[in-house]
Amino acid sequence: MSVSRPAPEPPAGPEAQEHQRTYQVRTFGCQMNVHDSERISGLLEGAGYVPAEEGDADVVVFNTCAVRENADNKLYGNLGQLARVKESRPGMQIAVGGCLAQKDRDTIVAKAPFVDAVFGTHNIGALPALLERARHNDAAQLEILESLEVFPSTLPTKRDSVYSGWVSISVGCNNTCTFCIVPSLRGKERDRRPGEILAEVQALVDDGAIEVTLLGQNVNSYGVEFGDRGAFAKLLRACGSIEGLERVRFTSPHPAAFTDDVIDAMAETHNVMPQLHMPLQSGSDKVLKDMRRSYRSGKFLGILEKVRRQMPHAAISTDIIVGFPGETEEDFQATLDVVEQARFATAFTFQYSKRPGTPAAELPDQLPKAVVQERYERLTALQDRIAAEENAKQVGTTVEVMVTAAAGRKSEETGRLSGRSRDQRLVHFSVPDGAPVPRPGDLVTVPVTSAAAFHLVADPATPADYSLRRSRAGDAWDRSQADSCGVPAPAAEGAARAGVSLGMPALPPRR
Ligand code: SF4
Repeated sequence: MSVSRPAPEPPAGPEAQEHQRTYQVRTFGCQMNVHDSERISGLLEGAGYVPAEEGDADVVVFNTCAVRENADNKLYGNLGQLARVKESRPGMQIAVGGCLAQKDRDTIVAKAPFVDAVFGTHNIGALPALLERARHNDAAQLEILESLEVFPSTLPTKRDSVYSGWVSISVGCNNTCTFCIVPSLRGKERDRRPGEILAEVQALVDDGAIEVTLLGQNVNSYGVEFGDRGAFAKLLRACGSIEGLERVRFTSPHPAAFTDDVIDAMAETHNVMPQLHMPLQSGSDKVLKDMRRSYRSGKFLGILEKVRRQMPHAAISTDIIVGFPGETEEDFQATLDVVEQARFATAFTFQYSKRPGTPAAELPDQLPKAVVQERYERLTALQDRIAAEENAKQVGTTVEVMVTAAAGRKSEETGRLSGRSRDQRLVHFSVPDGAPVPRPGDLVTVPVTSAAAFHLVADPATPADYSLRRSRAGDAWDRSQADSCGVPAPAAEGAARAGVSLGMPALPPRR
């Protein structure tokens, strides 16, 4: 479908022929969106675009989310600002994709007629062609597919990180949680074949990655499409035999589909990390029923118990929604009770907000904002206390940290570097005087000397307390630096200050 609207002037003259078009992708939303954005970057680079300097892009792509609160306001606010930039920049194009585009396709074109291309979650691969057609036809191009034609992993990807990568094992979801828009936007679950997944993991490892995160809306039901209920456990075990792959993670499992064979595979596969992110959403069985989540709090806690029996030091994190319609003080108290028992290392906590198009938006008893806010504050205070207590237990232990490129603001002030422990805790560490400095992707082993709710600190007293293992991932990082600037990068100096982001999605702990 194409929609007529005043189109930007294409660049003209010899300069236009020499000019290599630049792009920027702005991502809102979940891990799946961040991963899709890597594919969008890969596609655009495959089509000859190059990454733009900040604020200087010929093509800006918004990869949108319909799950998060205010996603549409945020998008239109951003688009409004960009419209003014576009007016003064002939040839500039704006594209909108992702869940919100899938859901609100026509509204986007009506509200923001200066947008050049709108594409859905099932046809990311069409983006370069849509941009080209929009330029050629002087008309906005809108293309949304209702079902997946090409599995997204077959599209080229530009990974955010050379040392860590994500691999989609499935897309879509067969569940019908009443607060969630994913099933209607991403469709029924589609599983990739294990051979294809393992080939992609192997390719990442061959490229230098030592960490891989397997990604799906509900990884525990992986295999349902091709009739193998044990497929996810087998996939984890198969990852264990990939030489050079040091850290395997996955997200997200669903408690209802979590089976013991997965716990066994986690515990018995040397490179599957002692870490589990499993969404609780509510500790009240009544609210879970209203959410149409088919497990109950007892089952959830039972899974944690089994995981900890086999992996005593596993760090467990979760997602919780506060203020679901009809949630009583008693229901909320049940959530606090489960949180107290579960001892989560981290919790992503959300205040419920109506998502148009979801069954929960139609439920009576939507709670007043003030009630939700007050409960939210009580929940986060409790979780912060638990996180601080759990992190404090790490003081005195020794952790292996995979160094990441992005140093936090605090680390920059203190001169510490940062990374993730095997159980995914954020660790800020210092390098003793005279000791070798690691590159992103290298592994250091350091003693934890202090802790806070959201991070650990490791300040080795002497070089003897610090060990560095240079990894293939660090070598790959060196190569990527050399490729990007044309000068072979020195192995260590300045490594931690490069602007390559960590492969894991950087979700805020709460909002
Ligand atoms: S399991 Fe529920 S919350 Fe998760 S994607 Fe499926 S429907 Fe949404």
